[in-house]
Amino acid sequence: MEARIELVDADITALQVDAIVNAANNSLLGGGGVDGAIHRAAGPGLLEECRKLHGCATGDAKITGAHNLPARYVIHTVGPVWHGGASGEEDLLSSCYQKCFKLAGENNLQSIALPAISTGVYGFPKHKAALIAVRETLKALAENEALERVLFVCFNGETRKAYEEALQ
Ligand code: ADP
Repeated sequence: MEARIELVDADITALQVDAIVNAANNSLLGGGGVDGAIHRAAGPGLLEECRKLHGCATGDAKITGAHNLPARYVIHTVGPVWHGGASGEEDLLSSCYQKCFKLAGENNLQSIALPAISTGVYGFPKHKAALIAVRETLKALAENEALERVLFVCFNGETRKAYEEALQ
């Protein structure tokens, strides 16, 4: 296994890394799941900063400060809602990871923690999502020597299992 990839069972809001990734929605104005947890922990300054971004397209990503979080930045990305797989969902999810890693490179980030984007309320099958996450991460690591740590945050056992299988 690529030594720079780690699986961590954690609440992403607690992680001291250069950036945590938020599985946001198109408004970037907060929501449920990991998005709600990040906004609660970051405080109202994050929402204020997000308002100035005027939303984010599905498959794209935008970076902000992390406000009251221990991380330095939050990268907000909008994953696709799963509609059965024939609506470009896999390409859109791949794009989320690519855009997050592009921002990591542009901002010289050494460590980044990612939730399992789209696999909560958005319903993307966990095993398919984990394969995409691993594939795009391996590509990004091959192109970015400055990136030292990529943490896949497993909020539940099913997510951990999906990553473990995808990493094999
Ligand atoms: P989406 O709308 O993209 O599906 P969700 O927030 O519903 O986003 O879920 C994305 C993933 O984030 C799921 O695997 C969910 O279990 C996980 N998750 C929820 N809260 C947290 C948290 N505080 N830290 C890390 N992961 C979380």
